[in-house]
Amino acid sequence: MKIDSIKVQINPLIPHYGQYDVNKNILMLKHSNLALNSAVVQSFFIHEGVHMGNDVDKIGIVKGVDEEAAGFIAQAIYFRAETGRYLSDPNNNPKINKVFSQANAAAISVINKSSTDI
Ligand SMILES: [Zn+2]
Repeated sequence: MKIDSIKVQINPLIPHYGQYDVNKNILMLKHSNLALNSAVVQSFFIHEGVHMGNDVDKIGIVKGVDEEAAGFIAQAIYFRAETGRYLSDPNNNPKINKVFSQANAAAISVINKSSTDI
């Protein structure tokens, strides 16, 4: 699958700002007037970008928990870099914040590694 075959659609029925459908190669946006200058929204699309990148590179065989973890950690790293704050759910959902808390911890671990550690 090539990156230019990914389509974008508006779908108000999805539960989040955006969602990538790996089977249809479609990035769905909840609505067309998302606040794209918002670090929260941007970080969400960083997360979806992990899914799209895995799909394009055909490393999507690493499904489920590992891919989701990579998405949340990338999202937390981006949000931290952009805002200096920890990622948290705008709706303060405790289940989502529990996931974000783990992603924040992993993100800080990655951020604090020097380039010579990699
Ligand atoms: Zn995800």
